[in-house]
Amino acid sequence: MRDIKDRVILITGASSGFGMVTAKMCVDLGAKVILGARRQDRLEELCASLGSQNAIFKTSDVTNKKEVHDLASHGISTFGHIDALVNNAGIMPLSLLEKGRTDEWDQMIDVNIKGVLYGIDAVYSHMLERGNGQIINVSSVAGKRVMPGSAVYSGTKFAVSAISEGLRMESAGKLQVTCIYPGAFQTELGSSIKDESMLEFLMKGNLAAVAQPAERIAEAIIYALQQDPGVAVNEIVVRPTAQGA
Ligand code: NDP
Repeated sequence: MRDIKDRVILITGASSGFGMVTAKMCVDLGAKVILGARRQDRLEELCASLGSQNAIFKTSDVTNKKEVHDLASHGISTFGHIDALVNNAGIMPLSLLEKGRTDEWDQMIDVNIKGVLYGIDAVYSHMLERGNGQIINVSSVAGKRVMPGSAVYSGTKFAVSAISEGLRMESAGKLQVTCIYPGAFQTELGSSIKDESMLEFLMKGNLAAVAQPAERIAEAIIYALQQDPGVAVNEIVVRPTAQGA
């Protein structure tokens, strides 16, 4: 295992949930972080608490290729390079297909798939030139199994899994690639669900009751970051003990 002190880590979706907690944990361990998301006030507050010598941000929408590239460039011009990317930004507006919420399908595809691809594109050539680097993509257990209401969300998270595997194979010997599959954890993700019937359906299940703190996923991300360059933890699945499916 290696120390992550002084490593430079770009995290998308850093304004809440896993991204925010991972940023804090990385800085606690001595790393430098480059943070992206759309909510400027959240990023400002987080960077102020972490210290401007350790944490910088750029408001960026992962559906905008230029903004993602600008985020990476901002990090490279500030810290000199990027060691790792945590491709974490995502949304989960679950709904039944019969509801025809096509705008939400478009958004999920744009954020969860294209956002991940733009993140990879923004750092890939930089990492290849340096001869090393690490990319951690956040999928979901919904990227391993489908439930009623998760067809499109699961589709995007299966895609993250496929993209991670392709990236791993194509970059073998150069990059360490990890795909993380969280179960139910306490973040703001549920707030993106607008379909009332889906909310009722989820309320009947007990997922919210068993959801565990976001820190548990940040710890899994840190575990992947701490691997020696010769080792890549390819997949990590983490569920609350009480989550069956
Ligand atoms: P949160 O809603 O707390 O965080 C999502 C983050 O993504 C926010 O920082 C948000 O920032 C950012 N984001 C959303 N849309 C965009 C966009 N267009 N451009 C840039 N950033 C964006 O949820 P989580 O922390 O739970 O989500 C993180 C990842 O974990 C997601 O990929 C999610 O699918 C995955 N996941 C979460 C699980 C859970 O139980 N919590 C389970 C399985 C997977 P902002 O709104 O400021 O742009």
